[in-house]
Amino acid sequence: MSAPVSCHECGADWHDGQTCTDHFHTLLFWEFDHKLFDVHYLLVASYHMQHPALYSPEALKEAPGLMIGWLEQGKHPHQTRREFGPAVQSDVRPFRITGTPEHHGAYMHPVTWTMRVGDVVRRGIDAYYDSTRAWAASILASLRASGNMMA
Ligand SMILES: [Zn+2]
Repeated sequence: MSAPVSCHECGADWHDGQTCTDHFHTLLFWEFDHKLFDVHYLLVASYHMQHPALYSPEALKEAPGLMIGWLEQGKHPHQTRREFGPAVQSDVRPFRITGTPEHHGAYMHPVTWTMRVGDVVRRGIDAYYDSTRAWAASILASLRASGNMMA
């Protein structure tokens, strides 16, 4: 049995032996090791939005609106956290965030992603904040282009 050579969720090429999960962990390590926490919320949301099965259907539905708030309406995550209140605190959230094999998010229409988690890693740690913001913006653009954003 050979290992898969691409990501069945975001379509990333895994020929260099690094999976999307590996790249995600690399970025989490950069954040932790270099105290680069400013775009953590964008990292987590972007990674999950490109791997929608990690989210519950409810969380996937909510994610683009949060992302628009952060990127286009100048909202700070603390603000959206307050605004969405209980919705983003897992202990009192009305629905679960994490997808399960039986209950997970999926897009209505196929999405063509222009940037993926591995691209953020390849651009290097010095560009981490800029790359992550560009990645998040590319996700919204791809969702709009594919007709997955109705609102
Ligand atoms: Zn992937």
